[in-house]
Amino acid sequence: MLKGKTALVTGSTSGIGLGIALALARQGANIVLNGFGDFEGPKAQVSGLGVKVGYHGADMGKPADIEDMMKYAAAQFGRVDILVNNAGIQHVAPVEDFPPERWDAILAINLTSAFHTSRLALPAMKKADWGRIINVASVHGLVASAHKSAYVAAKHGLVGLTKVTALETATTGVTCNAICPGWVLTPLVQKQVDARAAANGVSNEEAKKQLLAEKEPSLQFTTPEELGELAVFFCSDAAKNVRGVAWNMDGGWAAQ
Ligand code: NAD
Repeated sequence: MLKGKTALVTGSTSGIGLGIALALARQGANIVLNGFGDFEGPKAQVSGLGVKVGYHGADMGKPADIEDMMKYAAAQFGRVDILVNNAGIQHVAPVEDFPPERWDAILAINLTSAFHTSRLALPAMKKADWGRIINVASVHGLVASAHKSAYVAAKHGLVGLTKVTALETATTGVTCNAICPGWVLTPLVQKQVDARAAANGVSNEEAKKQLLAEKEPSLQFTTPEELGELAVFFCSDAAKNVRGVAWNMDGGWAAQ
């Protein structure tokens, strides 16, 4: 379905971003990976699906890096047809104890980076009259949890940016939508599981159960593969008039 298209997925060396990159590659899209840590493994996984793959190590907290990454993608692949703004970090603390530099980093990486990639990708998408921008927000783009001020503010902001981008492209072949996962067992959440296990003196398995029971009625983690399939749907022809939605895949979390 996506043969000949190029997808740039930020924060795709791990977790949800890698799941989305693999799902898009399975549909034939060439992939530009981004993120920290090992990238050779993810690159091999993507190229094993028979598509072209590139990598750029831009720090999504740095606008100059982002500009460089977008230039790299255009030079290597011609154009970014599908932009998935996924890179994100977390820090958990009450407002009065929240380190200001963590606040700044979360806002920069989880929100402002999507503004920069979008503003740089949109001209070519509009010119081609086809494009898909998928912002990986969170159920925390819809509701709040204590001790996640920066994350919740950034994700609510990302849902807002999604709606504005959707309005500005509404009469074109470019769409912009957000995905709002509940708990997904990635390194980002494993840290929270570990902290809970230590704080409550329980096993890792018990900490996972507690985490789910507190927020997610299905008592199940959403998987990167499931989120990848949702991204594929947003890229499909059937979704060409789906615009500005914040689609939760959260086991019923936001329905409560
Ligand atoms: P993860 O930690 O597994 O992956 C994060 C990715 O972002 C990695 O590839 C990492 O290298 C990259 N990254 C981090 N900082 C970066 C930076 N400054 N520049 C470039 N890349 C950077 O986390 P994940 O759970 O897969 O999270 C992916 C996205 O999904 C995030 O935006 C997160 O907020 C969102 N999300 C996660 C969950 C969950 O339960 N895991 C739920 C809702 C939303």
